[in-house]
Amino acid sequence: MSRDSLFPTYSPPNIRFAAGEGSWLTDIQGRRYLDFIAGISVNTLGHAHPALVAALHDQAQKLWHLSNMFDVPGQSKLAQRYCDLTFADRVFFTNSGAESIECALKSARRYHAANGDPDRVNVIGFEGAFHGRTYATINAAGNPKYLEGFGPPLPGYVQAPFGDIEALKALVGPDTAAILIEPVQGEGGLRAAPVDYLEGLRKLCNEHGVLLIYDEVQCGAGRTGQLFAHQWSDKAAPDIMAVAKGVGGGFPLGMCLATEAVARHMTPGTHGTTYGGNALAVAVGAAILDHITEKGFLDNVSVRSAQLRGGLESLRSQYPDLIVEIRGKGLLTGFKVSGIANTDFRDALRESGLLVGIAGDNVIRLAPPLNVKPEEIDEALAKLASSLAGFTSKTGRLASASS
Ligand SMILES: *Cc1c(COP(=O)(O)O)cnc(C)c1O
Repeated sequence: MSRDSLFPTYSPPNIRFAAGEGSWLTDIQGRRYLDFIAGISVNTLGHAHPALVAALHDQAQKLWHLSNMFDVPGQSKLAQRYCDLTFADRVFFTNSGAESIECALKSARRYHAANGDPDRVNVIGFEGAFHGRTYATINAAGNPKYLEGFGPPLPGYVQAPFGDIEALKALVGPDTAAILIEPVQGEGGLRAAPVDYLEGLRKLCNEHGVLLIYDEVQCGAGRTGQLFAHQWSDKAAPDIMAVAKGVGGGFPLGMCLATEAVARHMTPGTHGTTYGGNALAVAVGAAILDHITEKGFLDNVSVRSAQLRGGLESLRSQYPDLIVEIRGKGLLTGFKVSGIANTDFRDALRESGLLVGIAGDNVIRLAPPLNVKPEEIDEALAKLASSLAGFTSKTGRLASASS
């Protein structure tokens, strides 16, 4: 089947998937693949989870869509549950991560404008960040590769090095509206900000009247073993948080969560969305949250994470020339490879029946469903081991030359 009628923005491998179940995908020839990227950290409960299928099916028979001009069934209840579980007082529902970030950025600037500080417009982001593909989000992330060819960069965005609090302090001034950071960088190479760094950001923001925005689009929804990654500390709460990906488990759903002090300025007419949080999305979102908050679910994420990380550490000690660093947190984890392009490694793994992602800095990214089974992690590690062995025999000269 030709893809000539599609924008050439993507060039997927020549596989046609037909169905999925749990951590597994099956192609039209019946070949099975172990899915350790899960729609890029989206399919929280894997493919075709019966409870999600039922939630979607039940709601589909009642009511799909109203737009937000009417009260959407289930919205307030799901919002209240997320508020009870986080720093937030209010929620704005969206369809995607980029849309959640847009809402976060607008809310931050509006907060300062409403408080008599309309010149506080600058948003400090970080090198290696990823916040989506809209104009505001590519400018906030500042990756030159994603800005190229799309006109002049927008004013109001500043870049800081990741993890360096002193460099950041030097950038904060009276025109700073907000600091925007992923507690665990996804696309940028799975760098996890240490907990005390996030606490330092909170303190810095308090001292300067700056809002702290977290992008937990990829690292939230239970992926690190807490509902949200910043919750590993109780002293690092943001003022605003953008989420998406895993909170919808495969149905397009995102949220911008905020304190009352911020959200109260987003009055009627200031912002909107047609599809955001429609009845189908909210029904699936509620079913996802039911599972994540089930007793033992997040503890199990931590147990599985430790299993995966332990396996990766042992592969690293076996192949120190190929695996040079383990990255990430929880079930958003991976490793930096050396002597091989991460794309070649990913392709070889796919040939062996294991689907993984890549990230910046030559990193292989693993993000299995959060309900991944222990034997599936063992199988993924075995496939990684045999691919590494294959690479060592092929690149033996290279691997030993670099040691
Ligand atoms: C994927 C991602 C986004 C963008 O989400 P979309 O749903 O693709 O718009 C934003 N931030 C982070 C950290 C992401 O991983």
